[in-house]
Amino acid sequence: MTLFLSAQLDFIFFLYGLAFILLGGVCFAFVGVPGRPTAFAVLGLFAVAHGATEWLDLIALLVGDTPAFAVVRTVLMAGSFMLLLEFARRQALQLELKMPGPWLYAALVPLLAVAGLLAGLAGGLNAANALARYAIGFVSTIATAWVFVRGSAREPPATQRLWLYAAAAFALYGIAAGLIVPAAHFWPASVANYSWFTDLTGLPIQLVRGLFAGAITVSVWMIWKHMVAVDVDSARYTASQRQILVWTLVATGMIIVLGWSLTEYLGGIYKHSVEEESAGDIKLLTSLLDRETAMLGGMTTVAAGLPSLLPLLTGAGRRDPRAAQSALQLQVAASDANSAYIMDKSGTVVASAGDQNSVRNGPLAPGVLEGDYQFAYDFAAAVPDYHASRPVVDDSGSIVGTAVLTKSLEAFKAELSGFNRSYFLVDADGVVMASNVPQMSFRPLWPAPAAHNPAHSPASGRPLAEREITDATWIGVQGQRHYVRRQFIDHGGWSLVLLMPDSRVYASRFLGIIITLLVSIMMMIYLYGRERLIRDHVELESRLNLRDVARNLQLQATTDPLTGLFNRLKFNETLGYEMLRSKRQKTALSLMLYDVDHFKPINDNHGHQVGDAVLIQLSKFVLQRIRPSDLLARWGGEEFIILAPGSDGQMAYQAAERLRLAMQQTVFDNVGALSCSFGVSQYRDGDTAATMLARADAALYRAKIGGRNRVELAA
Ligand code: GH3
Ligand code: MG
Ligand code: MG
Repeated sequence: MTLFLSAQLDFIFFLYGLAFILLGGVCFAFVGVPGRPTAFAVLGLFAVAHGATEWLDLIALLVGDTPAFAVVRTVLMAGSFMLLLEFARRQALQLELKMPGPWLYAALVPLLAVAGLLAGLAGGLNAANALARYAIGFVSTIATAWVFVRGSAREPPATQRLWLYAAAAFALYGIAAGLIVPAAHFWPASVANYSWFTDLTGLPIQLVRGLFAGAITVSVWMIWKHMVAVDVDSARYTASQRQILVWTLVATGMIIVLGWSLTEYLGGIYKHSVEEESAGDIKLLTSLLDRETAMLGGMTTVAAGLPSLLPLLTGAGRRDPRAAQSALQLQVAASDANSAYIMDKSGTVVASAGDQNSVRNGPLAPGVLEGDYQFAYDFAAAVPDYHASRPVVDDSGSIVGTAVLTKSLEAFKAELSGFNRSYFLVDADGVVMASNVPQMSFRPLWPAPAAHNPAHSPASGRPLAEREITDATWIGVQGQRHYVRRQFIDHGGWSLVLLMPDSRVYASRFLGIIITLLVSIMMMIYLYGRERLIRDHVELESRLNLRDVARNLQLQATTDPLTGLFNRLKFNETLGYEMLRSKRQKTALSLMLYDVDHFKPINDNHGHQVGDAVLIQLSKFVLQRIRPSDLLARWGGEEFIILAPGSDGQMAYQAAERLRLAMQQTVFDNVGALSCSFGVSQYRDGDTAATMLARADAALYRAKIGGRNRVELAA
């Protein structure tokens, strides 16, 4: 699990950084919300800077790290936490809490820089990193959590809980990012560090931090959504926001899972090819070694059959040590061996040639007599070598001794000088005997087994791997993942180990990450666009509603509700305007005021409703018979008035007369015949609306007095 998760570190860094960069986006959106202090822009800057640090960590993982790059990242990390501290300070001021001014940084920044530098010089970059996390990482995150808690009381009830969630997420993030630090030589960094955390939980700390970062982002984002929903204030918008929220969470989950699967798959292709390549490579190495040993074995077989040797072992025939020795000398020369020698069954050397240091005198190791290969380490010459032995048999076929040829592994090493992968020929204890990595010579690849005899090998230094490699696996070497493959060779427990770095596995996985990023961006653009669309739509709708309401209000203010005609208000307004026009343009203007004759009995005999219907019918009747440029209004009760621009008194009189006659020809519903009396006045120089109306009214009065159903023109 731990190894699996550590292989996903790139994706973890990616998501962790993405969470913070999104938080930055949300915070910048906050700045646009009315009544929000600009402090959120500072929080946004923190989030973007911190997210960028995580993405730089990803790049370091991808292309390899350098000390300078690591310093840049540490400084950026410390700087981002400084921004967070500034955000907390500004929020606290907003809450009317006493806070030091910005001069604080004039003291804090140089102090931290010096402390960081000293820690870095004394304990390396890890120490500086740990110090920065304790001093500002922890402090700024906890301060932020605190201002969120304090501020939540002032927030609308709907978001209070979200503010508390955000505060909790910040506090937890603060613990993960501010208290669990890279291992350094001082307490508590020497204990509560990354590897301690991973041993404890099986999780890389970055995963935990990323989860808390995600929780912060989701809470703050939900707060923002709430604020926008309140702003827009539409049930439809709120409902669609809830829908978008659900969709976003579902889509995010899917993108993470699918993106990660794609990343895993792409990394898997590369991993698979590494595994296959290494299988081929180790086969090649083994066959090279086999060929090398087989050649020596062949020469040893020849040596064992040398006729001059047998008498030295059996005593039968003529003993000629000199001839035996020169025959062995020939073998040494022909096979490029270190030495060649003959032992009897007890292990006593009876003849030898070549380098005497590599001649093993004494009790026979198992298998030597019957013929074998033995790998060994020559302490004196500090070179690994190997021995091939073949039995020497007498005429009856029984073994009487053994011929041994020894050869150093230098030839094998030389042959592999152009081989571009790290290989190690290790002994039974895992100590490197031959390798193309010079600094690894005689170092253990893994911790020595319990039964290890320190006298056997001069191994020193830290083992490369944490435990013995048994066949093929992925391991971490100096913080970098490698693929290792071990192949036993036949003799003495020695084996060949191949080591391949997997830096390129991240490169192939990176494609998956980039695709995930692009899909995330597309999703965000889509969701944002959708949100905007709905918001615009809702806003447009409410604008249209408002316009309708306004129109209605205006209509109501100028219309008579019973007849739908203009009312007195509208009439007076138009009259004033038309009088001005007549005055300036010297055009005629007249009024016709008329009143229904004996209307009261209609109400009395037929009821008020019939009276209403008569008024409506009469209004339509008149409306159909006046000019489009004339304006008909209900003056009040059963009294109406017509404004006739362009008509002088005579013309208006004629028009009123025509109306009166037409009425006489008409049968009105329920009541039958109906008549009106008309009073007509025309505009004169010096008239006001009141004088003009008064003359019409007087004329109407005369018409009534004069017997009704007639038109009177004012003098
Ligand atoms: P005349 O004008 O010929 O002197 O007689 P009249 O009966 O028409 O005069 P009066 O002013 O006395 O009566 C007017 C009546 O019109 C009184 C009132 O009940 C009625 N009236 C006014 N407004 C309305 C209305 O909106 N609907 C109905 N049904 N009746 C109305
Ligand atoms: Mg009347
Ligand atoms: Mg009246």
